[in-house]
Order: sequence, then C-alpha cells, then structure tokens
Amino acid sequence: MKQSLRAIPSVGKILDALGETGLPRPAAVALVRSKLASYRSGRAIPGFDDALAAIRSEIVSLSRSRIRPVINGTGIISHTNLGRSPLASEVVETLCSVGTNYSNLEYDVSSGERGARAAYLEHNLALLCQAEAATVVNNCAAALVLILKHYISGGRPEVIISRSELIQIGGGFRIPDILEASGARLREVGTTNKTSLADYAKAVTKQTAMILKVHHSNFFMGGFVESPTTEELASLSRKKRIPFVEDLGSGAVVETDEIADVEREPTPAEIMKRGVDLVCFSGDKLLGGPQAGIIAGKAKWIARLKREPFFRALRCDKLILSALQTTVDLYLAQSEPAVEGKADQKRGATMPALTMLGTSQDELRARAERMIADLDGLPLKASIGTGKGEIGGGTLPRSKIASVTVDLLPRSLALSDLASRLRLREIPVIGYISGNRFKLDLRTIFQRQDEEVVRAIRAVLG
Ligand SMILES: *Cc1c(COP(=O)(O)O)cnc(C)c1O
Repeated sequence: MKQSLRAIPSVGKILDALGETGLPRPAAVALVRSKLASYRSGRAIPGFDDALAAIRSEIVSLSRSRIRPVINGTGIISHTNLGRSPLASEVVETLCSVGTNYSNLEYDVSSGERGARAAYLEHNLALLCQAEAATVVNNCAAALVLILKHYISGGRPEVIISRSELIQIGGGFRIPDILEASGARLREVGTTNKTSLADYAKAVTKQTAMILKVHHSNFFMGGFVESPTTEELASLSRKKRIPFVEDLGSGAVVETDEIADVEREPTPAEIMKRGVDLVCFSGDKLLGGPQAGIIAGKAKWIARLKREPFFRALRCDKLILSALQTTVDLYLAQSEPAVEGKADQKRGATMPALTMLGTSQDELRARAERMIADLDGLPLKASIGTGKGEIGGGTLPRSKIASVTVDLLPRSLALSDLASRLRLREIPVIGYISGNRFKLDLRTIFQRQDEEVVRAIRAVLG
C-alpha cells in the first residue's frame, strides 16, 4: 500500500530547485528521472524536500566519482586505487602533442605507405628488456591471456604451474581464473610451500602447452619453502621442448635496491638472461608508465603472438603507445653505459614513482617541519611521525619504505571526520588513521602539493 497520496514532483521542478549541479545537464536530468521513476514504482513516496535532498546527495556522489587528481598521502607509491604510477612530465607532453594532432601511428613516412604499429616502441622496449623482441597489449592480465591462448592453440591444453603460485593479485585478479578464461587447463604441481624441479618434470606430458612461473608479487612466503630457480625451469623446458613463461608483474627495469632501502625486484632483463622464452609485466607499476602489458622474449614467439587474431582485441591505442614510448626512451637515455667504475646511481630518477622511492628521509622531514609550522594556530596537535610506505600494486611485498608523516590530532573533531572532510575537498587529500593520529605520508605527496595540503587542513578545521 502506498504510504501516502502525495504527488510525485515533476522533473522540471526538481531541476529548478537543484540549481547548478556541476553535472552536464543530460546527466542530471537522467539521474532525476530515474530517481522519480523509482519513487513511482515504489511503496513510499517522500515529500518534495526529502526527494530533493535524496536526489541532491546522489548528484553529489556521482559528481565526486568523476576521475580527477587526488593527493596521495598513503605512502603507497603504485596505489592501484589511486591510478598507480604518476606519469613523467615528458610523457604528458607526448600525450598532448600526439593527442591533439594526427600521428604516424600506422603510417611509414619514409615510404608513404601503411607502416607497422608501434615499431619504434617495440624496438626500444626489446632493448630495455635485453630481449630479442617485445610487444605491448592492454595490461599484464591481457598479456597472460594472449600468451596462454596462443600456446594452447596447438591442441595441448595444459599449463603447468606450482601450487604456490596460484595467487590473487589485488582487485579480483586470480591466476587460476585467468588460466580458465584463456581456455587453458591447469596442471598444478607441488604443494603450497614446496615444489621441486622433479614435480615439474613429472607433470610434462603430450598435453603440456607450457610452463608458467608467476612472481610472488603481493605476499611473501618464508620458512619451510622451496621452488626451483628460473634457470632450472628454463633448462627443463628446453630439454622437454616446451615454452617457459614468467609473469613478472611489477617490471622494475632499474635496480630498486640502489634507489632505496628496499628489496631488489628482478628486472625483465635479468629474467631473460635466466633463459625464459617470454616474460610479461605491467607498464604502470614500477616502470612508472601508462597501463600496459609488456611482453618481451624470443622474436619467434613475439611474432606469433602478434599474428594471433585475439591480439587485435588487446591492442593499445595511440595515447598508451606514445606514452609508453616516451617512458621507455627516458630510461634508455639515462642508462647510457656508465663511465667505468662510476655506476650511475640516479638511473630512472626522472620517473616520478622512482623519484618518490628515492627521496631521502631528511628531505621529507624538512618538508614536514615546514608544513607543521604552517599549521600553527589551528585547533589540533601536529607532529612529525614515521610512516611505513610501500611500493604497492603488488610489488615488493616485504619492503616497507621508511618514511616521514605529518600526524594530526584535532582537538574537537573525530579522526574519521577529519579524514572524510579532507577526502571531500575539490582536490581530495587521502591519508590514513593509525595510532590515534590521522597521518599523511610525505613520500607520495609531491612537494608542489605541500601548500595545497596545508590549505586543505586549514579549510577543514577553520
Ligand atoms: C599486477 C600483476 C598482474 C596484473 O597486471 P595488470 O597490468 O594490472 O593487468 C599480473 N601478474 C602479476 C604477478 C602482477 O603482479
């Protein structure tokens, strides 16, 4: 039974009362219509003011979900929820010039004929990975599906993988599901903590399409564990004449342990040297580029992957390809053979994600001191704290990066309210609550954002 005989307000009346919504008008109209339709079909019809308030709140929440910059005070450098790695300014310049003009995406200016898509990028990417060849698809998940689909297409459906590597990597990415989606049949070997080379060897049959090794991206296994090395698996796969692929995930191409006091992440070049046929990794984790799935390895396999009809469904657009191209070139420009005896410590330093990783504690502390001085007079206790940053995005799970935080304790505002008020700013400021403080980790906040952070804190407490 209807709660009352109230009339449903008209769309026009609601829109007039809403005023400027910040949404494109058709989007606001659609939202109002759908809300009113739900009232019409529902049991309870609210009064005009209640309906208006409910609609306004939905409009605000839709409006807030528009993709825009946020300030990342979490200390997690490659934060998947916050867009992973920020791009280098040179990369953004490329995006502007390629995006606003026509480009030679598939056009050979030398011959005036159709050209190969991303030939330049693939050439330099292979060089960076020290592989015979390389190519790019949408993301690392897509790269894996493509690789699996290709190798099982010869009528051998089984993919051998250790039970210790049947992992989930954040946001619903599960290796077993990916295998299934590609049509491959899982041939699990070993146990959760121990897998031997013999386990792999025993599993190889006429049904075997390939051996897959997956990097333990987001968790660490210690204690009574064992697994064969990449070299051992490579040698087994050569002997058995089956392809061997390693999913590396993060794809740092620099020595992470030289940039900061963190564990060393294996580079694609290293993995290639250990004898894999193909390696795949993400473009937007430790590489610091746009979202992409990079595949590097034997020229023969790369060429075959590119001929797969499915490759077409996974190919990247000009923006991604040109952004990745500039990213790769920046690395190559910096990795010019170091002068003898003088290792270039700052390799990769122009990539924002790696700059953040390498920023010294002293530098962060100096910034924290300045910010705290600028917060003087506010009703809160502000102090310098310690942070445990991370690389994130499923990389270096054991490596906490020592960091410096600005810790806030408001006098008359709950920490969760402070956090939410800062999140709801035009430029949202994202921090976290720990040890009865609201913390902002300065490692992932650009120095150019310090002033805005201070302004935001002043505004929400003023
Ligand atoms: C992150 C990750 C993936 C998924 O990469 P996307 O580029 O996000 O698709 C796959 N494998 C491993 C080991 C990873 O760490």
